[in-house]
Amino acid sequence: MPTDHRSPVPARLTVLSGPSGVGKGTVVAEVRRRYPEVWLSVSVTTRARRPGEVDGVHYHFVDGAEFDRLIAEDGLLEWAEYAGNRYGTPAAPVRERLATGAPALLEIELQGARQVRARAPEAQLVFLAPPSWGELERRLAGRGSETRDVQERRLAIAQAELDAAGEFDVVVVNDDVARAADELVSLLAAPSSERTVG
Ligand code: 5GP
Repeated sequence: MPTDHRSPVPARLTVLSGPSGVGKGTVVAEVRRRYPEVWLSVSVTTRARRPGEVDGVHYHFVDGAEFDRLIAEDGLLEWAEYAGNRYGTPAAPVRERLATGAPALLEIELQGARQVRARAPEAQLVFLAPPSWGELERRLAGRGSETRDVQERRLAIAQAELDAAGEFDVVVVNDDVARAADELVSLLAAPSSERTVG
């Protein structure tokens, strides 16, 4: 059988996206706490490290020149500028993981999810939605690590992002972290033929 070169990655790639503050990181952390074998891509970012973040674990923290170099050598599966910083998914580790036939998970913002959709149409796109807009506002305001200016920029982005849920294969409502984590795990494990493609 000839090799199919249409897409850089085969099936079983799941992308979790959704508005800032919806709790993507919390849900993914819960998944990994209970299922340490779940493989999560470590992104590169130009944003400054927050207290408690570890280089190479939470992100690969790079400067702008290094990020430029990764783009130039086509080393990123997707990348986006978000609230003044750049974030991207290193392509090689994802390809290597999927080549073993095992699932891979990305946790990225919406522009990046759209790029994955374009480059790997068989990827499963999961939208994490807040139980309500008021709840999302409350969560964004509750992030003590950020200035009011940064919070407001994130809120504006989040409002536009909520409208994007219709572009996704599956919507998971983050009404309860443990329940949302369970739902995400069941989606990771589902064979691609059983996915809901919208
Ligand atoms: P934070 O600065 O709070 O860690 O992340 C900000 C946003 O960037 C979040 O919505 C997060 O999902 C997103 N993000 C993290 N890594 C990537 C990535 O590799 N690519 C894209 N497009 N977004 C990312």
